Amino acid sequence: MPTLSSRITSINTGGSDGWEVFYRSRRMIDAGVDVTELTIGEHDIGTDQSILDAMHKAASGGHTGYPEVPGIHALRREIAKRLATSTGVPTEMENVIITPGGQSGLFACHIAIGSPGDTALYVDPCYVTYPGTLRSTSLNAVPVPTRSRDAFLPQPEVIDRLAKETGAKSLLLNSPNNPTGMVYPREHLIEIGKVCEENDMWIISDEVYDTQVWDGDHISPRALPGLAERTLLIGSMSKSHAMTGSRMGWVVAPAPVINSLIDLATNTTYGVPGYIQDAALFALQQGEALESKVAEPFRRRRDLLLDVLAKQDFISAIPAKGAMYLMLDIRKTGMSGEEFANALLDAHHIAVMPGESFGTSAAGHIRLALTIEDSKLVSAVQTLCDFAQSLTKADA
Ligand code: PMP
Repeated sequence: MPTLSSRITSINTGGSDGWEVFYRSRRMIDAGVDVTELTIGEHDIGTDQSILDAMHKAASGGHTGYPEVPGIHALRREIAKRLATSTGVPTEMENVIITPGGQSGLFACHIAIGSPGDTALYVDPCYVTYPGTLRSTSLNAVPVPTRSRDAFLPQPEVIDRLAKETGAKSLLLNSPNNPTGMVYPREHLIEIGKVCEENDMWIISDEVYDTQVWDGDHISPRALPGLAERTLLIGSMSKSHAMTGSRMGWVVAPAPVINSLIDLATNTTYGVPGYIQDAALFALQQGEALESKVAEPFRRRRDLLLDVLAKQDFISAIPAKGAMYLMLDIRKTGMSGEEFANALLDAHHIAVMPGESFGTSAAGHIRLALTIEDSKLVSAVQTLCDFAQSLTKADA
């Protein structure tokens, strides 16, 4: 067989990436073991029936041909209206392209902002696909390290140093954050924005959890003074409307950027199916009621778990202000996140993600997805705390 490109073979760097726990838990489930699965950020509900009905109606009505590549006008207008309202920045249809999920938006934005070999910064810990996505666009993916004691917020001076050392073209931000659950405060984003302006960098802002905010407000860099012209905002209906399988996302950016992304889409994805777009439009038109219905269980479960955690001091939580996760610091056990997750799976059949799977900065942490029924989740976390306590005592 002829050789494959370095671009594609470098996507997956191989080696241990912290996903063994996940695969091991899947194998145990296949073998009939009753595993409590807290690894993956997939809702425990499906897409609302009313959205499925709209999808069915659109498909039966004939919206099954090639889609308009940038997206149907009504949907682009609806998203523009939504963003104009949330950011206060005038936003038109020409600022919006519909993409097959946020993931393809991440890829497209990085293709748009850098040439092969250019550096793109991303914050560590991060959503697992980030480094591979950046590498797949032939960019040099450089992590911005963060610290648990800063709640994993990237520090402006660290970004500035890396930007200067590497001549980086862009910074990828994600708030509300997966895996940490942090929501970046306005003042902090302003400071980061200044660094991006000084170093003439693009900001790629992954806001797919924007409807899941428990404390504070979701602030988009697009909303901050002077940043709209350098911000490429990524949105999605996967998390907000439990539509993970519909692959419905968007990019909002200055019109010339969107024009370039349309060229890319014409030659890659060729758009998103029309009946999915019609269903997305219907879903967005339902307003906040539907979004709150999807988000509410995660807020409730976050609160329940914080109550459980407050009763002990062997494990501490990173302030969970949004998104469907809780990041726990398990360093008092003396174990790595990976060792702890493996031991927990063996001892109690509870599967969590080791912090190490999201980057080196989250070593000694674990991430829980708040995606199972309340009482089961509370009991799993109680068991987890007791387990951490037994390990800590054994070590003491
Ligand atoms: N960004 C983050 C931070 C995510 O957690 C995810 C999905 N888990 C995505 C992007 C991709 O989402 P989508 O389903 O819209 O492609």
